[in-house]
Amino acid sequence: MSNPLPFERPLASDRAASHWRLAMTDLVTDPAELLALLRLDASAKPASLAAQQDFPLRVPRPFVARMAPGDWSDPLLRQVWPAAEEETNHAGWVDDPLQEQAATLAPGILQKYPGRALLTAAPHCAIHCRYCFRRHFDYDGNSPGREAWEQSLNTLHQDPSIREAILSGGDPLANSDRQLAWLVRRLEAIPHLDTLRIHSRLPVVIPNRVTTALLELLQASRLRVVMVLHVNHAQELDADCNEAMARLGDAGLVLLNQSVLLADVNDSLEALEALSERLFTAGVLPYYLHLPDRVAGTAHFDVGEARGCELIAALRARLPGYLVPRLVREIPGQSSKTIIA
Ligand SMILES: *Cc1c(COP(=O)(O)O)cnc(C)c1O
Ligand code: SF4
Repeated sequence: MSNPLPFERPLASDRAASHWRLAMTDLVTDPAELLALLRLDASAKPASLAAQQDFPLRVPRPFVARMAPGDWSDPLLRQVWPAAEEETNHAGWVDDPLQEQAATLAPGILQKYPGRALLTAAPHCAIHCRYCFRRHFDYDGNSPGREAWEQSLNTLHQDPSIREAILSGGDPLANSDRQLAWLVRRLEAIPHLDTLRIHSRLPVVIPNRVTTALLELLQASRLRVVMVLHVNHAQELDADCNEAMARLGDAGLVLLNQSVLLADVNDSLEALEALSERLFTAGVLPYYLHLPDRVAGTAHFDVGEARGCELIAALRARLPGYLVPRLVREIPGQSSKTIIA
């Protein structure tokens, strides 16, 4: 079983803290319940049992509340529904397309690119995105206990070329504020680190996750903090998200977004344009638009590189440069993500 992160002294008490913990324990995990909430008929498109077993349905209620009732083609629903298409095998779509096993420096630490180390700081997420490139990731083997954490942090200590620690997961904000405080303090003690990056979908799917305690921890850090959010469609952002982003921005964080280009979710000029503008309204700049990794069970989300390039060109003709994300693909063995357009 995976071990949780250790934790630091209690941080300032915070009412919102109990709200997000509650939202995390009260997720929608039963396909029948999700359909009932959306007033959809299960017989039209039954959940795939095999897909459910492989990667179970998991959606926070605030995210469900942003789905349009009665609409099977809702772009938020499509991101979480365990569909029958996932069971079809496609040549070249495999469990570990990014060869992350080979990039493991120590338990819980991956390094693929110079200067940056990625910590798998949480074994799970608040939401299960069907297209997830880590849906087959061995979290149990990469969730160190306290002692192993100390060893892994030592590995970072010993490599002065690493300037940036990236907390990824799972979702690193699935940890409690006290656990995060423990980790942030340990990272701050590594003199050659100057940047802390947090890759998280939690401020989007459960905006209450942006607690005062979290903001205090990040604002007080000597590290520059960058948060890379994950939003694929403008409809994912509501007024609560705006407020959460504003609080993160006020705390001095740099806010960026990464999306995945997904068939029938955001593969149109209108959807991508609305997404960039909506992000900008929330104080977030688009960073990457990922071509989906070739993970088994996700081929039906693939849009293709040529269509991706077309969309980026069309977007560039409509929006200022700072609202056009870079279309990227991850090619194992390269020293960075590969920019396609
Ligand atoms: C994507 C990724 C990064 C970050 O790459 P940037 O181009 O700096 O955003 C770092 N480490 C790993 C293992 C990654 O997969
Ligand atoms: S939040 Fe990110 S890591 Fe978690 S399931 Fe979704 S895409 Fe995967």
